[in-house]
Amino acid sequence: MRNDVLEVVLSEEEIQNKIIELGKQISKDYEGKNPLAICVLKGAVMFMGDLLKRIETDVEIDFMAVSSYGSSTESSGVVKIVKDLDTEVAGRHVLIVEDIIDSGLTLSYLSDMLHRRNCASLKIVTLLDKPHRRKVDLHIDYRGFEVEDAFLVGYGLDYGEKYRNVPFIFIPKPEVYS
Ligand code: 5GP
Ligand code: MG
Ligand code: MG
Repeated sequence: MRNDVLEVVLSEEEIQNKIIELGKQISKDYEGKNPLAICVLKGAVMFMGDLLKRIETDVEIDFMAVSSYGSSTESSGVVKIVKDLDTEVAGRHVLIVEDIIDSGLTLSYLSDMLHRRNCASLKIVTLLDKPHRRKVDLHIDYRGFEVEDAFLVGYGLDYGEKYRNVPFIFIPKPEVYS
């Protein structure tokens, strides 16, 4: 795996320090509210786990799996729900936990869906944001890092299901794609 690293974009320490900060802010904003944190599988799994440990208010969790039709490096905006929530969201304070927002199409679709289910409030926390690639207007409530326009892997992010377990985020060498 280490041989596949072209450039480390965010170290394990940088990621964990940022998560402590996000956790503090979220704990403060949701004090006494018992939010429902929704992890968007599979990419957000690492971030979800680490972030939850830094949230001090009571929080419930659920998981959702979506697949966007398109290539492995770009999303098309057509979203299919592969695994829906087990939890009723009506009246709940929902916090969507995402790994990375690129075009914003996936989250825009999910936000609309959760609003239609009458959640009491909806906020988005993403570890990574690629704002220059946005195709729809999307309000992000909590953002870890703005990143450059490159395909990233590690810390939940995959290329062909690989690299999710790497504790840092990196740009892979070009030969990885061939
Ligand atoms: P969007 O709908 O915002 O374009 O795409 C969001 C999803 O695309 C992310 O949740 C992630 O699964 C995937 N994605 C976007 N950018 C990257 C990237 O740089 N690396 C990886 N591995 N996945 C990405
Ligand atoms: Mg994701
Ligand atoms: Mg992927």
